[in-house]
Amino acid sequence: MPHALTLNAGSSSLKFALFELGDLSGAPAVRITGLIERIGGSSHMRAQRADGTTISDAPLPPEEAADHETALGRALDLIGQERPDARVVGVGHRVVHGGPDHAVPIVLNAEALEKLRALEPLAPLHQPHNLSGVRAALAAFPEAVQVACFDTAFHRHHPWVNDTFALPRGYYDKGVRRYGFHGLSYDYISGRLAEIAPHLHAGRVVVAHLGNGASMCGMIGGRSIASSMGFSALDGLPMGTRSGQLDPGVVLYLMSQEGMGADEIADLLYKRSGLLGLSGLSNDMRKLEEAGTDAAREAIAYFVFRVRRELGGLAAALGGIDALVFCGGIGEHSVHVRQKVCEGMGWIGLELDEARNMRGETVVSTDLSRIRVLVIPTDEEIVIARAVRDMLARRG
Ligand code: AMP
Repeated sequence: MPHALTLNAGSSSLKFALFELGDLSGAPAVRITGLIERIGGSSHMRAQRADGTTISDAPLPPEEAADHETALGRALDLIGQERPDARVVGVGHRVVHGGPDHAVPIVLNAEALEKLRALEPLAPLHQPHNLSGVRAALAAFPEAVQVACFDTAFHRHHPWVNDTFALPRGYYDKGVRRYGFHGLSYDYISGRLAEIAPHLHAGRVVVAHLGNGASMCGMIGGRSIASSMGFSALDGLPMGTRSGQLDPGVVLYLMSQEGMGADEIADLLYKRSGLLGLSGLSNDMRKLEEAGTDAAREAIAYFVFRVRRELGGLAAALGGIDALVFCGGIGEHSVHVRQKVCEGMGWIGLELDEARNMRGETVVSTDLSRIRVLVIPTDEEIVIARAVRDMLARRG
């Protein structure tokens, strides 16, 4: 039975999913989803079937998840035991950076892999891990088609004003551009909106992907026009541990006055800032909501404030707004954050229905709200699985 494996390799984690592809004419059907966390440390593997039943939820001995390659091996053992009939004919990879050229998924071979390696300086904390997942999969499935799906691809048609910084032109040519990320999530939301509310999909939509990583995207007719993330996955909204938008003067200050080097600054901005830095407590929104300390409340207030500012900015960039979509762990589950983001937004024509919001319905705006507010769970894995299916179908 032909199957696709999807891999999403983070710095110390590996997310995997197995999809049955059938005859390549229909939707890939998810069979297993899993996550190995803390690779190289005290690892843990969670995996479940499509019906939500648990296959595994247990620590892994260090030798079974010493690096991405052994972790993938462990995931494949689990898949083999659970679905011995599965023949993996395609592997889809989430790759954070596709550079300026890739607006669609590509087939990975040695040459393509080398070109993506050259982009590592643009995403030093993500791209190397993504590519180590690719190398592990190439070794495990030499016969399968390997497909790279880029987080940047969905944004590659931005108008120039939202693709550039006001630096001397030469930097743009060198690749210092506003790429935008979370593209697989936005791609999914765009497609889902086309199914459930085609009139909104055709209009001006702001999507707030609020998870541990967070960004917002303005779309018209389902295509990205502007995004809160720029050159790196640091820009825009504050995140679990990332600072979000920052005056570049702060970086100059850290260098000149605090004597910090690039690695230290990267550590500060990527790993010690955001909700964690502000609260001094946790990067986890749920924990902050439960904690109720002043610092936790202020961290949430800053997060909400930046989402609201970005919403206003994106609405202006789109020339108006017809719908706001929440997704990501926080967007999907935090009644409080959605309520605070939408509070007092009547001036823009947005009115939240508190009861619908509390129940987490798909539409959480009132019937009279000019702007529809929706909650749509995102699914990056199915976007990758569809790309693998389409690539296989094209190759015949
Ligand atoms: P993600 O990266 O999309 O998995 O999202 C992770 C974020 O979602 C974390 O900050 C979680 O605390 C947050 N989250 C998940 N469930 C809830 C919830 N019920 N209430 C508030 N935040 C939540």
